[in-house]
Amino acid sequence: MFDISLTFSRGDFTLQAALQLRAGGLHVLFGPSGSGKTTLLRLLAGLENKAVGHIHAPDGRNWLKMPSRLRPVGLMFQQHALFPHLSVRHNIAFGLRGKTENERVAMLLEAISLSHRAHCRPGSLSGGECQRVALARALAPAPQLLLLDEPFSSLDEQAARELQQLLKTLQQQDGFTVLMVTHNKSEAYRLADSVWLLEAGKVSGGGEPDHMLMGQRLSGRFQAEAEVCHVESDGLMARLEVRMEKRRFSLLVDESWRLQHGIEAGSRVLLTAKASDFSVFPVS
Ligand code: ADP
Ligand code: MG
Repeated sequence: MFDISLTFSRGDFTLQAALQLRAGGLHVLFGPSGSGKTTLLRLLAGLENKAVGHIHAPDGRNWLKMPSRLRPVGLMFQQHALFPHLSVRHNIAFGLRGKTENERVAMLLEAISLSHRAHCRPGSLSGGECQRVALARALAPAPQLLLLDEPFSSLDEQAARELQQLLKTLQQQDGFTVLMVTHNKSEAYRLADSVWLLEAGKVSGGGEPDHMLMGQRLSGRFQAEAEVCHVESDGLMARLEVRMEKRRFSLLVDESWRLQHGIEAGSRVLLTAKASDFSVFPVS
């Protein structure tokens, strides 16, 4: 468990955050713009000083007393901020802070499926590929805690899904803990083990995604029963084809979640969606 309790002031902004993150889990930080999400990540990484409190890591060490460069933390922002003049390989190796570990870099290049672009500069890559390199760079020193600040928001749906899957695979392999800022509720619902709400510098709640995202906080909730007609799985994610009335459509779900709930072709499922953004049309 990461046990975090921090108080920090800058001008008239005060952050007061207490949260507990299960080690090895993926945790989401949710909150309006200006609520202090980025500040909290920067405090955890040691990029802001002068906080009081503690950051107790699972091994009992208090990271707050450690300088930034000694904290086993990886950080990745919305904008990848790769070094344009360095190759993909050297961008990843940069995360190793001078140590040249060719094997680690090669393993990460393989994991992000960019071994064949190792010597290219970031300028020749797509946005999704750049984010993959940024993720590999953040993971290069094998951090215990990976901090992600809206990592998928600059990507299209397809590239975002691919990066999410990659993140899950790497997390399963390496067992690091993730704290991720996102504004996307369905992304949070799909990926998170716990969700924490930050409002005006204060953690106003935290808990299971179901409770935090599907509760009364949504302005409306749409529900309908449907039948699963087909399941396709790649071992990590499963695509469910469901039938509702005469319509069929596809949904992506976590494969481990699907297996845990025994959902297969023929299963009845309850579909729910946040309904804060309805459009209404007359039936012709
Ligand atoms: P969020 O990431 O949730 O949008 P931030 O952590 O960026 O929020 O900002 C929290 C508060 O700190 C806001 O009031 C913001 O205006 C202020 N702030 C952010 N960065 C700085 C900075 N570098 N200097 C001074 N104030 C800042
Ligand atoms: Mg921010």
